[in-house]
Amino acid sequence: MARKIMHIDMDAFYAAVEQLDNPELRGKPVIVGADPCGRGVVSTCSYEARRFGVRSAMPIREAFRRCPQGVYLPPRGGRYAQISRQIMNILSQYTSLVEPLSLDEAFLDLTASESLFGPAEDIARQIVAKIETEVGLSASVGIAPNKFLAKLASDLKKPKGFVIITNENMESVLENLPVSKIWGVGPKTEAALKELGIHTIGLLCKVELDVLTGRFGESGEDLYCLARGIDERPVSPDEEAKSIGHELTFQTDTGDRQFLSGVLLWLADQVARRLRQYQLQGRVITVKIRDNNFKTITRRTTIPVATDFEEIIYREGHKLAEQANWGGKKVRLIGISVSGFAKDEPVQLDLFGESGSENEDALGKLHQTVDQLRERFGDQIITKGTIMQVQKRMGQDDKTR
Ligand SMILES: [Mg+2]
Repeated sequence: MARKIMHIDMDAFYAAVEQLDNPELRGKPVIVGADPCGRGVVSTCSYEARRFGVRSAMPIREAFRRCPQGVYLPPRGGRYAQISRQIMNILSQYTSLVEPLSLDEAFLDLTASESLFGPAEDIARQIVAKIETEVGLSASVGIAPNKFLAKLASDLKKPKGFVIITNENMESVLENLPVSKIWGVGPKTEAALKELGIHTIGLLCKVELDVLTGRFGESGEDLYCLARGIDERPVSPDEEAKSIGHELTFQTDTGDRQFLSGVLLWLADQVARRLRQYQLQGRVITVKIRDNNFKTITRRTTIPVATDFEEIIYREGHKLAEQANWGGKKVRLIGISVSGFAKDEPVQLDLFGESGSENEDALGKLHQTVDQLRERFGDQIITKGTIMQVQKRMGQDDKTR
């Protein structure tokens, strides 16, 4: 029996929350992200801003050039997390099989819910209506027999999209879509496929498996299956609670260790802040490094005491990266995550030795203060030296693109 998987994705989430909280911003181009004079990127922008050609992940200066009349706001993570909880609560009223992908996106397995609440399509419409009336935001939905197709479907008609893919219409939906619509196909894989003359998913279906694995290794197999709409992955409810991570794909592959260390520190900082936001501490640190040949190495370590400190996450992550010989090759992507959360464990063994526990308390308080300041005044208020350097380097990379 075909599964009924739903993917829901809020429309322009951060910007929509800003417009919800401040009615004066409605109908205006709202851009949430870094300081428009700095070197950061756009996090999310409203659909009004998209009309000017602004996109998420675009360098913020480019956004400012295209849309100087826009309203530029720093992200308010805590507020978005609060609204996210409201949305996830609504989702969980229809099934316990909810897998959040981020604050504004989730998979639901509605297969078993149909006997209780009626057809998946009706459930999805109820959910969207509920979010609109109770939260005040709009969402796009995809329903399909698996996660890949459901996610693809929710993206086809944004905003307020509602697309159903079945085994019957699957081929005709996929056939003429660009290969970039496949989950995990970024600009480089797209370019590599184009070199082989493969522009659409329909064309990809005509390629033999060994050709794809010969060119892309293990991920060739994923390409082969996804192009045919095959995806057996289950919806796993506590995915988000299992790990919190952050990763970055470079615009230019780099083997510069010093630069990579800076990026790792920045990533560790992002992860630590999110851990504190969710009041989580973890013992397992995982580093992921993908080289320019798409080979991905993951290394993990377990530390004695659960942490939410960027200093510790960075230190351990750096050791792992060194063991993986990260500067030996050009790196395409780097990521770090923390898992193994110690939610109910009594806190806390003393990491710094007995006399150090005061230090640790002080450091914890400092982190809280910094997080609060950033929440109120934006990221730019407190920036570490290394992070500044990283942003500068990333800015340079932007230019060389
Ligand atoms: Mg979204």
